[in-house]
Formats: sequence, C-alpha cells, structure tokens
Amino acid sequence: MPELVFMGTSDSKGVPRYYCECEICTEARKTGVNRRTRSSLLIQGEQNTLIDAGPDFHAQTTREGFTEIHQLLITHAHNDHVLGLGDLLDYRIYARGDLPMYAPEEVIPMVKARFSYVKLPDWLKPVASGLQLEGYQVSTFGVPHGANGFSYAYRFDRPDFSWVYCPDSINIPEETEQTHMMDLDLLILGTSFWQEPYPMQYRSVYDIQEALQLAAVKSAKQVIFTHMSHDIDARRVSKGEARLPDRVRLAFDGMRARVP
Ligand SMILES: [Zn+2]
Ligand SMILES: [Zn+2]
Repeated sequence: MPELVFMGTSDSKGVPRYYCECEICTEARKTGVNRRTRSSLLIQGEQNTLIDAGPDFHAQTTREGFTEIHQLLITHAHNDHVLGLGDLLDYRIYARGDLPMYAPEEVIPMVKARFSYVKLPDWLKPVASGLQLEGYQVSTFGVPHGANGFSYAYRFDRPDFSWVYCPDSINIPEETEQTHMMDLDLLILGTSFWQEPYPMQYRSVYDIQEALQLAAVKSAKQVIFTHMSHDIDARRVSKGEARLPDRVRLAFDGMRARVP
C-alpha cells in the first residue's frame, strides 16, 4: 500500500519568503507551523517515485531520511519544480546508474534547455502511455497556469481508486475538469492564497475560495490543498478561525497520506 509523502507544500517562493517580514513568514521562521518548502510529492511504495524536484530537494530528502528514488515525474519546467534535478542527475550518474525521468512531451525541451550541460542521451523521456506505478495506471493532462503559461497534472487510476496531483493550475476549462478530475477518491490541488487580491492577468494558481467552488473539488471524496504561500495560515485553520469543509485539509511538509 503506497504512502504519499508531502516533501514540500509551498508556492514558488517558499514560506517564509526570504525577503518578507509578514506575520506568517515571521511565525514560519520561529516556530515553523507555516514553514513550507517548494512543492513535491513522493509516492513511497515498492519503489519510490518523486513528482517534481525543486530547489529544496536536497533538504527534503535529508529531512525524510531517504536514500533511494527510483523514478521521477515532472509537472512543468518552472524553477520551483525542477531545480533539484541537478542533485538527482548526480545521484543517477554517481550512485544508481539509471533513474527513469519522465515529463510530458511538451515540457521536455524546456527542462533540457535548463540542464544543457547534461550529456546523457535521452535522460528525460515522455510519459509513456501504459506507464504503471504501484498498480496504478499513470496518465497526465495539461492545465492552464495563468500568467505562468501551462503545467500538467498527473492522474493515477486503479479499479477501486483514482487520484490526481495538480499543483499549479488556474481557470481549468470545464471540459478538462469533466474529463480528468471528477468524482476522484483523492484530489491534491495547488492553492497559493486563501484569497488572492491581484488581477487575473498576474495570477497563476487557484486560491482556496475559487478551489472550493470547483466541481472537481466538490465531487472528490477527499481533497488536500498544497502549493501554499505565506497568505495561508495553518494555525487559523486548526483553531477553527478559518473553516474548510470536512473532506478538505491543508498539506504540510512531511505529511503522509495512505492510498490503497
Ligand atoms: Zn509551482
Ligand atoms: Zn510573508
């Protein structure tokens, strides 16, 4: 039975933001309830599969005490999701010999351009149709990422359980939502703000208020929000001052969730 390990749960800037002295960033430095590293998810089962490897990858693996990662899936080519690839490529070259790395076809040239010094042939492969992990059929689908372009989500299906990891998205077309995201057993969705005040042309990830209105969120049996900025104060949610429906919870770094 695989376990999902939330290696990191922050937006692109981390919490605290290194330049910010707001109340939540100050709390994150001192006691750390809201301390979050850049978003990444580990599926720990027969094999360990990492989704995204951001700039905090090294510290995250040290925190969790992992020695082995067997494969990597990438959602998109932004810094907060790929900067740990340097460490993973070293691990592959010096320790493992091989480490399958997959990304959606469209994302591959963007990632490779950032790691142009890597001379391994075909080190990053398109997510093959028919890819299976821990008994789940793996598929991927594109989602809009607002001002930041596009991203991909990963979907995992077995006959009795379906779940989706979608860390970076906004304004998902209804057709995409209906085709890939309805009636899930578990939806892990990125929500950068509790309520984001900026105009839509500058935004790139749902806020929590918008997310709660999505048909995908309403129809999922369980929802976990991740990719959260310094706008989200987990203390207020645990004290009941900010409320979420019973099926919905906030991720935190190091959180574990079982899937069948
Ligand atoms: Zn991101
Ligand atoms: Zn702050």
